[in-house]
Amino acid sequence: MSNRRPFRLTIVHPCVGRPRGMKRYIRTWQMECLPAAMIAALTPADVEKKFYDDRLESIPYDEPTDLVAISVETYTAKRAYQIASEYRRRGVPVVMGGFHATLCPDEVQTYADTLVIGEAEGVFEQVIDDYRHGTPKSTYHSQSRPVLKTTPDRSIFQGKRYLPIRLVEFARGCRFRCDFCAIQSFFNATHSHRPVDRVLEEIARVRRPGQMVFFIDDNLTSGLNEARELMEALIPLKLRWVSQTAINVAHDEDTLDLMRRSGCQGVLIGFESLHAESLKQMNKSFNLMAGGPAKALANMAKHKLSVYGTFIFGYDHDTPQSIAETVDFAIDQGLFIAAFNHITPFPGTPLYERMKGENRLLYDAWWLDDRYRYNMIPFQPRSMSPEELSRECLGARRRFYSWSSIARRGFARVNRRTPYLLWNHLVINAMHHWDVDSRSGLPLGDESWTGDLLPARRSN
Ligand code: SF4
Repeated sequence: MSNRRPFRLTIVHPCVGRPRGMKRYIRTWQMECLPAAMIAALTPADVEKKFYDDRLESIPYDEPTDLVAISVETYTAKRAYQIASEYRRRGVPVVMGGFHATLCPDEVQTYADTLVIGEAEGVFEQVIDDYRHGTPKSTYHSQSRPVLKTTPDRSIFQGKRYLPIRLVEFARGCRFRCDFCAIQSFFNATHSHRPVDRVLEEIARVRRPGQMVFFIDDNLTSGLNEARELMEALIPLKLRWVSQTAINVAHDEDTLDLMRRSGCQGVLIGFESLHAESLKQMNKSFNLMAGGPAKALANMAKHKLSVYGTFIFGYDHDTPQSIAETVDFAIDQGLFIAAFNHITPFPGTPLYERMKGENRLLYDAWWLDDRYRYNMIPFQPRSMSPEELSRECLGARRRFYSWSSIARRGFARVNRRTPYLLWNHLVINAMHHWDVDSRSGLPLGDESWTGDLLPARRSN
């Protein structure tokens, strides 16, 4: 490199959006941003790195830098393009990657000097090297699933306050093909995992007394043998951990026993719907296997594992009555917490293509449309109006997080088996009670931002 000073990289994590006049972004549930730490780890040690989290702080656009890296999700795309425009206007090139960049490359390429399609490992190092030598390309494409050996560089989080829970990645991707899920589109229904010893090393380094570890895997048990290897290795650590998994593992009592012994406190399971027609439509009929959700929950309770259940509404057979039955189920079953959201047609998913083919999308690109607000329904449901579906989702959340429901679920044996768990149940549910509607109506992108999104210039 001819330049004497170090190459400077600025990593930015965009927020979803801000209404005009919002002084402080919503602070609840703000966790460390692991993709940013991963980008930092892939960056050579002699590069000067800065990280700005748009949810927590303002971005100093005038601070000198040589390259900006932004990981883009569909919900943060508009804000990412605003940020990129600010840097572009100052002559600083921007590289974008992440889910949205892979699933919607033509759009993202409009606002990025460089686009990374697929996973960053094995590619981002080349991006930096090419920029240092003045020979950047417009697109980099990861050719195959990379070997996941990198440990995130958390030094970039120094001085920023996040929820006191440690995020660790073991596996990435999922072998199922649920039609609404961007993960299966991105990874083409494959999964890969990090070596267990790397994960143990990382846990030893980042663990703090009393803190929970959250394995942020899309589906921890997608590769069951590998997940079991990890759990065996966790037993001596006396760790408390939570994660996300598909329902199939809830029928595998041997693995549930291992989960419990390895310190698992509970898992998120995507139940999505209790109705066979809806599950069939979303290509998730496996949720009804071996006795379905009720049997799965009984197995989980038997092995002292709590459940965060997620449900999505808006498939063709969903009605206000079926939604009410779902909330009854979630309360009766004593779910630790639950999410009730409308289905979201993410670009690049089979659901999006189906709705587009049926002319049911209400916006060309809802994630960029100025009329669209968080929690609005971007498609025409079959059996309700969009507004009714939106109200039903909110009503479901309100009922599930009412004080009477919180108390009732707190009495479920599985949620009060230790004082630690009962306390967490109360605190987390109370946070949801107060937070049930705080994001509704939020714009996507910063409303105070003025100007036009600046398309990137192309050199090749
Ligand atoms: S099981 Fe979960 S992660 Fe896997 S494809 Fe279905 S929704 Fe996506």
